[in-house]
Amino acid sequence: MAPIPGSGLAKGLAVTLRTMTKKTVTAQYPDAQPELPPRTRGVIGLFEENCTVCMLCARECPDWCIYIDSHKETVPPAAPGGRERSRNVLDRFAIDFALCMYCGICIEVCPFDALFWSPEFEYAETDIHELTHERDKLRDWMWTVPAPPALDPGAEEPKEIAAARKSAEKSAEKLAAAAQPEPTPEPGAGAAPEPGAEAAPGTGPGSAPQTKPTDPQGGES
Ligand code: SF4
Ligand code: SF4
Repeated sequence: MAPIPGSGLAKGLAVTLRTMTKKTVTAQYPDAQPELPPRTRGVIGLFEENCTVCMLCARECPDWCIYIDSHKETVPPAAPGGRERSRNVLDRFAIDFALCMYCGICIEVCPFDALFWSPEFEYAETDIHELTHERDKLRDWMWTVPAPPALDPGAEEPKEIAAARKSAEKSAEKLAAAAQPEPTPEPGAGAAPEPGAEAAPGTGPGSAPQTKPTDPQGGES
């Protein structure tokens, strides 16, 4: 059957009318900031204090875009007579976001929770070299990392929190024990003898058992 002349135009106008009445989904960025999901992969933050320079992240990165330099330092023994220990000191930690493909492997493999996703994404540069973020910049991103979501009510308590709670409970018990009042002596116990009255040895409550005096020469007196 031949199409009715003008039916295509009518269909097109119907689509236009339908779309006009729907809620718009386009955000007018940068005038309107997008509402990003909390686990958005924007940029990577480095929590330097946790990094032990184990190099796992750099080794596992598929793009080889993590650069780490370090040196070893000798730490004196914690107690006299102990052994000296050596530890790695971080000299450089950088991520080249021009190469990074935001796979998140580095964050997953870090055994010491030193890397985190931040939802920040506004770090475009006109010079590609500026996309290599050095340690200080990576640390600054940590301020934009959202707090972790609350634990599921049925979740097992994290072992770090359990250990901290047990230690706090022990300290509280010790403090409570120290604050307990001393037991009061019974009336008359340990009272000073009346003037002139001779206290009978070994009599009376609370008196210490009398021992027979020993001869300094070794014999009994
Ligand atoms: S997110 Fe992936 S590509 Fe980017 S630095 Fe980490 S491991 Fe490398
Ligand atoms: S894996 Fe974690 S601890 Fe190891 S070097 Fe990378 S950031 Fe540091």
